[in-house]
Amino acid sequence: MNFKVIDGHIDTLIALNHQERTFSQGSNTGHCDLQRMKEGSVSAALFAIFPAMTKKHIINGLDEWFKLVNNPENHLYHIKSIEDFKNAENSNKIGAVLHFEGAGGIDKDFALLRLSYQLGLRSMGLSWSNVNKFATGALFDQKQEDRGLTEKGKKLLITAQKMGITIDVSHLNDPSFWDAIEITNKPIIATHSNCRSICNVPRNLTDKQIIAIHEKHGAIGLNFGLRFLSEEHKQAKSSVELPLEVFKSHIDHIVNLTDINTVAIGTDFDGTMIPSNISGSNDFPKFFDYFLENGYSEQDLKKLGHENLLRVFKDTWI
Ligand SMILES: [Zn+2]
Repeated sequence: MNFKVIDGHIDTLIALNHQERTFSQGSNTGHCDLQRMKEGSVSAALFAIFPAMTKKHIINGLDEWFKLVNNPENHLYHIKSIEDFKNAENSNKIGAVLHFEGAGGIDKDFALLRLSYQLGLRSMGLSWSNVNKFATGALFDQKQEDRGLTEKGKKLLITAQKMGITIDVSHLNDPSFWDAIEITNKPIIATHSNCRSICNVPRNLTDKQIIAIHEKHGAIGLNFGLRFLSEEHKQAKSSVELPLEVFKSHIDHIVNLTDINTVAIGTDFDGTMIPSNISGSNDFPKFFDYFLENGYSEQDLKKLGHENLLRVFKDTWI
């Protein structure tokens, strides 16, 4: 069955730069394009600019982003306000929310932040899995750093929130996460992270972190990446099938710790290796069917699919 989806994280912009395909033409390469997103009833997605580690990355990324979104063949609609979610649907287009994966390229006076907001930036992580002048990320395969948000990072978070930019904590290390929770004035999201108690990787959330996001009325997007879903396959070099039961175990765990209002979708499509039984956004109906057959109501799946993320945007955008 089809449920409307707002996908909290896709890396399609980056994938299109190095794959032999276009967004408007159907393809089996990668995970998302116009046709596959329509098949999966994806109404909008956060299209990440990655990396956003330097000023040059951000400027080049914005240029690429506008080339993608402004190409009429792509039937994309740049979402800058809550009403735009409806406007995109009414014009039969897929909504594109501009997201920075990391903020390292923003200058210490925040000029690039203000300009990016004017250009439509509505969601941002403070760091990717690296260390920058604002925050420290959960590092890959390395000893984790103890450092949290810097003073500049705290100021960046508050300034961005005041402007109406949603803060994403998915890539932060634990001390940075807790600093963000302590100072945030608004709900926050973890756009593409799963449960650490099920799959123990630093990019996933501890039970305490899940509860803290819930207490701030935020949401957590389920990451479809194999290494974030399955402890057994967290080092996998090639894809394998993974029962949908494993996807559901993460959602179940978050719902049991908090409630149905905390779960969302943030696939990481086009940016991570996904289980071989999922081909991309066209497989959302298969995913939702499994949940419908296993204890979730249509109302629950509307919340999981798009309502919870939309609520957080309503609470964080001006
Ligand atoms: Zn990511």
